Amino acid sequence: MRLGCHVSISGSIDKAIDNAVKRKCSAFQIFTRNPRGWNAKQLTDSDISNFKSKLESSEIDRYATCAHMPYLPNLATPKDDGFEKSLKTLIDETERCAQLGIPYLVTHLGSHLGTGEKEGVKRLVNALNKAGKIKNDVMILLENTAGQKNSVGYSFEQLGEIFNQLKPSKKFGVCFDTCHAFVSGYDLRSKDKVKKVFDEFDKFVGIENLKILHLNDAKGEIGCNLDRHYHLGLGGIGAEGIGAVVKYANKKKIPIILETPIDDDRDDFENIRIAKEFA
Ligand code: ZN
Ligand code: MN
Ligand code: MN
Repeated sequence: MRLGCHVSISGSIDKAIDNAVKRKCSAFQIFTRNPRGWNAKQLTDSDISNFKSKLESSEIDRYATCAHMPYLPNLATPKDDGFEKSLKTLIDETERCAQLGIPYLVTHLGSHLGTGEKEGVKRLVNALNKAGKIKNDVMILLENTAGQKNSVGYSFEQLGEIFNQLKPSKKFGVCFDTCHAFVSGYDLRSKDKVKKVFDEFDKFVGIENLKILHLNDAKGEIGCNLDRHYHLGLGGIGAEGIGAVVKYANKKKIPIILETPIDDDRDDFENIRIAKEFA
């Protein structure tokens, strides 16, 4: 089993590995820089070598690590300047991952801002195919969305439609977020339902393309389109469903990353411990 959580890089980027080890993670996700801004300071040689050597001396497999795109880019936007900036960020982030030896970059699929799904998908596919031309070994993972207003890529059918237009295929994969799937209408509340959902995912997207699983319970109910993550077993999905997802991902050897909240009820340490119990 490879399982961990999103960890902070606060202080310096190699601190991510310390944070992961402290939480007994065998997988982790980072932002390579402040996720709330457009600009990123270049990684220095010492940032890169410290990160790589720390990761190497840990027991964490490089292929169980990923980075997540910052929040501001929108790859489906109809605005030209926003599109160019978003594409540049996507390309920059794949380069930063390549420097750090991180194999996967998770990206959201964006919002068409009212221009319609067809147009949004067209721009998104255009952006992804441009980024796919960059020569590095980083795979871009498309994350299913929560189905918020104007969002692209909440149904497996549409995710598959997008995925099948991407070239070269070895540059692209998928990240499945359990909270997003549930709030966009996929029932994950029992073992049988989990199997049904992953069968449908396999049919449209292909389970072999699933490289990272984001394991989050949902604050809201099924189909509410509310992107609010919650503690494992305590949200709308519940313990049976979350447990079944953990077992499924382990069987398929897919690294599991938690993006659960930290509050008075629970922290990362506790959610990770509980995820291991479910396994
Ligand atoms: Zn995400
Ligand atoms: Mn996620
Ligand atoms: Mn989310």
